[in-house]
Amino acid sequence: MTELIPSGFVFHQSNLQTFLICRYRFFLRYVQKMPWPAAVAATSSQFEQDQAAGSYFHSLIHQHFLGIDRDTLCSCAQHFPDIRVRAWFDNFMNTPYAKIRPNQYPEHNQQIRLDGNLLLAKFDLIIFEGDTIQIFDWKTSRKLPKRQFLQSRIQTMVYPLVAARAQAKPPAAVNMLYWEAGFPGQTIQFNFTQDDLQTAQLTLASHMRTIRSLEPEQFEQTTDLQRCALCEYQSFCNRNSPSWNEDSYYEWKSEVFGLID
Ligand code: SF4
Repeated sequence: MTELIPSGFVFHQSNLQTFLICRYRFFLRYVQKMPWPAAVAATSSQFEQDQAAGSYFHSLIHQHFLGIDRDTLCSCAQHFPDIRVRAWFDNFMNTPYAKIRPNQYPEHNQQIRLDGNLLLAKFDLIIFEGDTIQIFDWKTSRKLPKRQFLQSRIQTMVYPLVAARAQAKPPAAVNMLYWEAGFPGQTIQFNFTQDDLQTAQLTLASHMRTIRSLEPEQFEQTTDLQRCALCEYQSFCNRNSPSWNEDSYYEWKSEVFGLID
């Protein structure tokens, strides 16, 4: 019998978050690989605008760390049609995080094996300083997310765990900083202890085990209709769209484009 989830399947924060939001959405997107029937009309324009601006902003930061000079990048930002990009880039260049340091890796992928599963993290920036790892994640949200919300995100488990376990020697400390381009002074940082990492490992391994154990009919539709508010499979699932808010928009955007933004 063919495995539902092939042995080479790569888990990452985006597909694990999808599973937690709606098992059926995970099944449609990652098992059946069903093309999305349609973008949700109410958000598609805002989403496309946010996606284009966010991706361009990330590419500017990447180029900065690759050594492209500031004036060139500022000029690019100024000519981008969405005026938020210029402000975001100015904000970024005025933070200490723009400093070029040794042992820093922008747009860096790392993958580990956990319980026989592949687990991938794609870091916006990771810096190795002695036996400390600092992870940075740039965000371009319209609304500042709450600390508790970020703490509950799968990304806040996957990134530090992959960063720590990918090293030959366990790091003494792993920290992760979320920096919002529109709210530059309001960073949110998490410092992970060895106990935190162990908890993350057990939790993520448990999620992956569950996913592998399910039969097709066990990938159930969520009972929380708010989860459906922005889902592209609404028409497929025959779910009416309840109203959405900025929190659900943030969650959906970061889930769908979790590996970009
Ligand atoms: S519409 Fe709702 S039930 Fe259907 S896949 Fe999307 S989130 Fe799940």
